[in-house]
Amino acid sequence: MSANGAGTATATLQFDSARKEMVARQIRERGIASPRVLDAMLAVPRHEFVPASCVGEAYDDKPLQIGEAQTISQPYMVAAAAEALAIEPTDRVLEVGCGSGYQAAVLSYLAREVFAVEFRTQLVATARERLNRLGYRNVNIFAGDGSLGWPMASPYNAILVSAAAPAVPATLVDQLAEGGRLVIPVGNAEQQDLMLLVKKENRVTQQTLFPCRFVPLLGLHGWRLRPDGALEK
Ligand code: SAH
Repeated sequence: MSANGAGTATATLQFDSARKEMVARQIRERGIASPRVLDAMLAVPRHEFVPASCVGEAYDDKPLQIGEAQTISQPYMVAAAAEALAIEPTDRVLEVGCGSGYQAAVLSYLAREVFAVEFRTQLVATARERLNRLGYRNVNIFAGDGSLGWPMASPYNAILVSAAAPAVPATLVDQLAEGGRLVIPVGNAEQQDLMLLVKKENRVTQQTLFPCRFVPLLGLHGWRLRPDGALEK
């Protein structure tokens, strides 16, 4: 093996052990018990989803910048959202705000098919190229305003909104199948609650999971970005 190849193999081993450590300390010890979610978090190479400048921090206990003022969520948040969605292997899942594509890759291990909508076209291009290269064949990424959901492929068994909404968009609830689950951070720009909504027999029940902080959901049912950078409903 060339010196270069040996270096790459060593780096892969280091990433593997950092990922195992991440799942043990940040995910399992904090109460995520679903074996399928733990397996998915072990399987997805998070270091492939962060910019080269922060590869060394890929398995740290925090969100990271992915460019265009956006972030890849903290590993625990990704796992907790995935567990709350209670995804079955036959499910079709929608993610709003696909960013780097990391959460979509985790969801792709749990579901039959993942649809992901992203507002920023540059992030769409990068996430598509990355997921293709890494072989995630059951993820479809679309450019658009995900605050409207993605009606063409609805209904979904589970919907995850990965950006903070001022309120739950009714259109997302409409796109849930019978028994469907919606996980969404709702609040103001600084602080939100992660909410779980379940649609059953034409009734929607709602539960607060825990406080969180996401970047804002823009678009028709999200926030409006004023020219001075402030957000308004
Ligand atoms: N889940 C991502 C991180 C999400 S960050 C990951 O694993 O990397 C939130 C993302 O939501 C950002 O990429 C932002 O551009 C996107 N976003 C904000 N408003 C949106 C909207 N209305 N529709 C689609 N994407 C939106």
